[in-house]
Amino acid sequence: MTVRVRYAPSPTGLQHIGGIRTALFNYFFARAQKGKFILRIEDTDQERSSEEALEDLYATLEWLGVEWDEGPIVGGPHGPYVQSERFELYQEYAEKLVSEGKAYRCYCTSERLEKLRAEQIANKSEQQGYDRHCRDLTQEERAALEQAGIPSVIRLKVPLEGKTTFNDLLMGPITRRNCDISPDPVLLKSDRFPTYHLANVIDDHMMEVTHIMRAQEWIPSGPLHILLYEAFGWETPTYCHLPMVMGSDGQKLSKRHGSTAVKDFRREGYLPEALLNYVSMVGWSYDSEREFFTKDELCELFSLEKINKSPGIFDYKKLLWYNGHYIREKSDAELAKLLIPYLEASSFIKSPPSQEEIKRVNEIVPLVKERLKVLSDVTELTRFLFEEIAPPQVEELLPKKQDAPTTLKALKGAYGYLKELEVEGVEAVEAKLMELANTLEVKVNGVFMPIRVAVTGSHVSPPLFDSIRLLGYEKAFSRIERAINILENEVHNE
Ligand code: GLU
Ligand code: ZN
Repeated sequence: MTVRVRYAPSPTGLQHIGGIRTALFNYFFARAQKGKFILRIEDTDQERSSEEALEDLYATLEWLGVEWDEGPIVGGPHGPYVQSERFELYQEYAEKLVSEGKAYRCYCTSERLEKLRAEQIANKSEQQGYDRHCRDLTQEERAALEQAGIPSVIRLKVPLEGKTTFNDLLMGPITRRNCDISPDPVLLKSDRFPTYHLANVIDDHMMEVTHIMRAQEWIPSGPLHILLYEAFGWETPTYCHLPMVMGSDGQKLSKRHGSTAVKDFRREGYLPEALLNYVSMVGWSYDSEREFFTKDELCELFSLEKINKSPGIFDYKKLLWYNGHYIREKSDAELAKLLIPYLEASSFIKSPPSQEEIKRVNEIVPLVKERLKVLSDVTELTRFLFEEIAPPQVEELLPKKQDAPTTLKALKGAYGYLKELEVEGVEAVEAKLMELANTLEVKVNGVFMPIRVAVTGSHVSPPLFDSIRLLGYEKAFSRIERAINILENEVHNE
């Protein structure tokens, strides 16, 4: 048997962490099993589906490097793979169930159903939901309603007794009494649109899906889907509901925890390698040690046995750590290419950049590589190289527990040595600055920090001497002079 799995998103919002985790697990499983990975668009809810969401889906999968074997754009033997293009099929199968007595038409108006619900609530009635009013209409009653042109929906005849079980690879057997399943859910709406349940089951069967891997929140739909497979006389696929993705507080991951849209992570400068690797570790592990996996490695090593039963925690800090790792894995040239769009967006360089600017970016990359957690960090790290910086405040220039007169002495002394930087070289000047700290009886930082703030406007910056070189000695020196003036004013005014 060839494994065939699918990712079946509804294009109603941006792709988020939970969704792509489902996509990735399906994709890796297909690859590891030398099976097929299908993409299916479940857009039966036309009001909530949008073109923007669909474009985001394609862009996200492409960015992650997840290619599908069958689906929209690429086609395949079971197409079309967009549910709104398959409506006739659903109608045909719904009618088939009606003609076999396994489903029936319900002519109840929405007013009647609303009134029913209100009564059920008022009476605290045990019976919730549809009261199966139309289940046992006589032939004559039906004919009369049809004659009168009353619109109808098609509902599944859920057995009144017994129970339904399905086996989940991860959770084991899941059983529900049929009387607890929603009383006769709608399969086909009055506008002839299928509901999720009908379309999903028909398509999984038609597309010969062997394993259904989807979020655990779909478990409650399981028994109903089994009833549908049985009604059609089809073999049921294997189920493997995936553990939930939680935030660090143990609640389902949501916007309350931070961004969840892949688009946001991408914009901030997370690398696809990092997101793909980390998201795959949420609810799956190879062994208790190994943390780094490339896409190709996961395509080879992924297995269902190693999916965790318990929910996975999505830790934003851990993702940041993975991202730093993958940033440092890039060659300088690759990283330069990735950083250019951020520098363009900050108007530090032109779009597209000149040859001169590209050269400059390539010089900058080795300086920032160690310090980037996300690509967009490059803006603040390198702003001082591209823009004039505001004159520093006195307090910014003063290291902890170091007064203005001492700091002035340190900066002035340091400046004298730094002027020789080009001739003497970094090591010699560095040694002089250390000596200076010694003489002034301050910490090394007491000398370096004021220079850093004077030149870069910030306490965190790329390595100091490289920063000075890249900024240009003249500019750097005039910034140091400016800082000296600021400190001199302060000392004089005291
Ligand atoms: N369209 C459903 C969703 O958006 C698919 C659920 C399933 O995989 O069966 O999650
Ligand atoms: Zn009815």
